[in-house]
Amino acid sequence: MRLPSNVKPYPPFIKYFVSLDKGFNFGKTIYLNKAIYEDLLKDKPNNLSIAVLKHEEIHVESVKEKGVLKFGIKYIFSPKFRLHEELIAYEEMFKFLKQKDETYNLDRVAKALSSHRYLWVLSYPQAKDILQKLWKEV
Ligand SMILES: [Zn+2]
Repeated sequence: MRLPSNVKPYPPFIKYFVSLDKGFNFGKTIYLNKAIYEDLLKDKPNNLSIAVLKHEEIHVESVKEKGVLKFGIKYIFSPKFRLHEELIAYEEMFKFLKQKDETYNLDRVAKALSSHRYLWVLSYPQAKDILQKLWKEV
């Protein structure tokens, strides 16, 4: 599929700083891990790759709505905002995956959400509980 110009593969230096396994956004730019980025360029990308892109696109919509600076500051300093933003992005992702009869490793997401990557926004059991409910409800 054709990717919008704000979607890019991880720049090579990123692996020296952090291990971000699927994707992240910086302002309005979406960075995807190389395997996902390359898969999305194929005629028939994996549903999981598309779902990752959808997740990041939700973040970019919020950035556009709120402005790069406001989004960035709130995301870093407000755990409540950060959680809200992640949950609306996962909701979109889960909706798409369920439509396609796919499953998703909620345990992995729960671990990520309760880790340094999201600045310990939730404990692992809280994250697991919220994600299971979200998956059921979408
Ligand atoms: Zn996210």
